[in-house]
Amino acid sequence: MADDKDRLGEKLHQKEKAEEDRYFAERDRELLARLRRQKEGESLGCPRCGTALSPVVYQDVNIDQCPACQGVWLDRGELEALAPRERGSWLGRFFYRPKSSV
Ligand SMILES: [Zn+2]
Repeated sequence: MADDKDRLGEKLHQKEKAEEDRYFAERDRELLARLRRQKEGESLGCPRCGTALSPVVYQDVNIDQCPACQGVWLDRGELEALAPRERGSWLGRFFYRPKSSV
């Protein structure tokens, strides 16, 4: 009886372990692929469609644009560099949204 319970526990443990291993193996593979791309000097792929992003200069700020889906991806510093020049645009409005008085 106690033996059966132990075996079940062991089985569950092995199953959990296998899922964990798979998760970490997948994560490692992703990280390695990303590192390899960075090493080769390529920019990371588009988060939406995976196409390699090409750097474009917009208002003197280097940003990454996807040639396939036209998505534009900003790093934090890039957004901050752009927003002050974009006060009248959606980006500036988003960034400098007046504080709600309610
Ligand atoms: Zn894309």
